[in-house]
Amino acid sequence: MNDETKCLHAGYTPGNAEPRVLPIVQSITYAYDTAEEIAKVFDDPTLSLVYSRFGNPTVMAVEDKIAALEGGVGAMCTTSGQAANLLAVLNICGAGDHIVSLGSIYGGTTNLFTVTLKRLGITTTFVSGDDSDAAIDTAFTDRTRLVFGETMANPAMTVLDIERFARIAHAHGVPLIVDNTFATPVFCKPIEFGADIVVHSTSKYMDGHAVQIGGVIVDGGTFDWENGKFPEMTEPDESYHGISYTKAYGKAAYITRARMNLMRDFGVYPAAHSAFLLNLGLETLPVRMRQYHANGLRVAEYLQSHPKVVSVKFPALPSDKDHALYKKYLKGTCAVISFTIAGGRAKAMAFLDALKLVTNEVHVADIRTCILHPASSTHRQCTDEQLRAAGIDEGLVRLSVGLENVEDILADLEQAFEVI
Ligand SMILES: *Cc1c(COP(=O)(O)O)cnc(C)c1O
Repeated sequence: MNDETKCLHAGYTPGNAEPRVLPIVQSITYAYDTAEEIAKVFDDPTLSLVYSRFGNPTVMAVEDKIAALEGGVGAMCTTSGQAANLLAVLNICGAGDHIVSLGSIYGGTTNLFTVTLKRLGITTTFVSGDDSDAAIDTAFTDRTRLVFGETMANPAMTVLDIERFARIAHAHGVPLIVDNTFATPVFCKPIEFGADIVVHSTSKYMDGHAVQIGGVIVDGGTFDWENGKFPEMTEPDESYHGISYTKAYGKAAYITRARMNLMRDFGVYPAAHSAFLLNLGLETLPVRMRQYHANGLRVAEYLQSHPKVVSVKFPALPSDKDHALYKKYLKGTCAVISFTIAGGRAKAMAFLDALKLVTNEVHVADIRTCILHPASSTHRQCTDEQLRAAGIDEGLVRLSVGLENVEDILADLEQAFEVI
């Protein structure tokens, strides 16, 4: 099946006279005829369902759809994108371990890595896509367990050289985890380029309508966990009656461990109704992404030629620094445009206040056009140095172009420029 078809049909096929639309199975638990049958599921939770903290039919249908879209062997939904990032890391990192991450990532993830994971004893070294291979190699320690980056970074809109970072990660015996939120699998499938694990905030384009926070982890099934660095994946798990995830679940070892071990303990599994809403968004994802691309490109071209704009970061523009990477890895951009307004912080904030149609909101990838000033909001906690590493200028604004008629969006931007 092609993506458009997968978005409508993967994950759920009704049997004879069953509901045409994915049903909401609003039940915490599942009834069994015998105690023996429940015991069997405790031995192997992939057999069936016992409790909706590990799995639920509505959520699992959506997991299968997303795994099919990304080309993975399995997926697990979480209650937020942050929960997906947290569990994706904790599945293979413990106290004393180390992460190599691109600096140009979402501010919330920078915070997770530099503050909360640090308190748990997991440290991070940030690198840049502009660094040489030799410089990136020096960031690794013998405790490095993964490399992390974003396909198209929020909000810097830099493009990750996935093949290059996969090669570097694999040379050090660790997986590459890619946050594919902005690209969506419609525009890029990182596993095809060598990424091992893909994470998403489904709160963005996948949901699309700004109704439901969510996240997902997809296992590519490609990484060799038996290289001696990942005993939690290969050695018996005493908390799961001595199971070895690689021996029992082969290519799906990582995602099975994430569910059986981490989801059990952290309990950040979405409700069935949340997954139902996410599924509605997924059904139209390819159509929406194409229109986002068209609207985004048109607005980016307008901004690029505007005298009050210092610079525009939008990789689909031929003049963009990452345009070659964009052409290699992406079939389209999303409609997030980072641009810098002349006059710094004060002018940027005045511009936001002058907009009428475009909403000031802390979100991105809403179906309605919205705008945000990262330095005073999402990245408020970052030091100047972290802001620079994330590619954020004080006058930078992040515009998320929606699906209104693009002429109306342009008219609102123009009147706000006139005001400032
Ligand atoms: C929004 C976002 C997150 C966090 O997702 P939530 O669903 O808000 O928790 C993580 N990564 C990226 C790239 C994001 O855009």
